[in-house]
Amino acid sequence: MKTATAYIDLKALRHNLQAIRQRAPGCQVAAVVKADAYGHGLCRTAAALQDAADAFAVARTGEGLALRDAGIVKPIMLLEGFFSPDEVTEIASRHLDTAVHDDWQVTAIERAPCAEPLRAWLQTDVGMHRLGSADLAELAAFKARLEACPWVRQPVGLISHLSVADTPSEVDYHQRQMERFRQVAQALRVTGPLSLANSAAVLAWPEAVFQWVRPGIILYGISPFADRDGSAWGLQPAQTFKTSLLATHRLRPGDKVGYGAAFTAPRVTVLGIVAAGYGDGYPRAAPAGTPVLINGRRVPTVGHVCMDMMFVDLGPDAADPVGSEVTLWGQGLPAETVAAHCGTIAYELVCRIMPRVARVYLD
Ligand SMILES: *Cc1c(COP(=O)(O)O)cnc(C)c1O
Repeated sequence: MKTATAYIDLKALRHNLQAIRQRAPGCQVAAVVKADAYGHGLCRTAAALQDAADAFAVARTGEGLALRDAGIVKPIMLLEGFFSPDEVTEIASRHLDTAVHDDWQVTAIERAPCAEPLRAWLQTDVGMHRLGSADLAELAAFKARLEACPWVRQPVGLISHLSVADTPSEVDYHQRQMERFRQVAQALRVTGPLSLANSAAVLAWPEAVFQWVRPGIILYGISPFADRDGSAWGLQPAQTFKTSLLATHRLRPGDKVGYGAAFTAPRVTVLGIVAAGYGDGYPRAAPAGTPVLINGRRVPTVGHVCMDMMFVDLGPDAADPVGSEVTLWGQGLPAETVAAHCGTIAYELVCRIMPRVARVYLD
């Protein structure tokens, strides 16, 4: 019987990257592999996409260095820049390209002599209020300083991030963000590359697609939009989280199940004990009724999710043998569906698979 295992479909990753290319023809694709490639495994994911992607994007210097150590030679972009001035020399020597969102980072670049040219992306804020300056005079000053710095590779690029590309109720705000990005690029006379689009923009907003796109979640086959799954966009889920049916019990009406006796059987039924819990990354917040897939049908969870196990109501006529394979999300049961039940987004589900869960790569 198998314990909880995350199956990573490398063909699906490559398929999704091709789907992205079709939607952003002629663009350079920076495959976003931060947070352990959204739980798919940083180095294996990057290796599988090394030929197909034009670059990789990560959130931390350590992630970029791990990719270099693993032999990834494509450009790597640090989406939050470096966190401390003493990283500058190393990121230049390891060819990590950095976003620059603050004055102290410009100063750190000026002060750290680099033997190798450093590629910098000036980061502007167009409405999210997360990273980057929204002030044109300040941006122009940053740009001038980066242009004057002998080890900064020219021309400097411009990068920003969209906050509502996936939010239908905020279309006006989204349009303003796209417009603002164009204005900033024009006002600063940026001749370097421009990068704005995340997954939602790649799918739905061609106006946000400039030279470089930065898709993350769609690479993994998951839709950023609440109203449809990745399959509606021709994407394939790359992560399938599976485990086994560890035991079954026949319940009588009134039998109470699990911690806190959170479920009471209303009728005769067969209870399934599924060998995965929050210690594997299945959300404890999953309410009763969250589906799992077993022997081709969806059955509801009942009771509280435990650390190592959880409960499902297999139904009164169930004959599922102990040892049956159980899919928690992925192929056959979109992570988007499970996330909607849990009041979260599929991004969180796929990236919080715990270290004890074995990863099996399929090619
Ligand atoms: C995470 C991230 C992305 C990718 O976002 P998705 O919604 O997963 O496509 C792109 N750009 C930046 C700056 C990010 O932080």
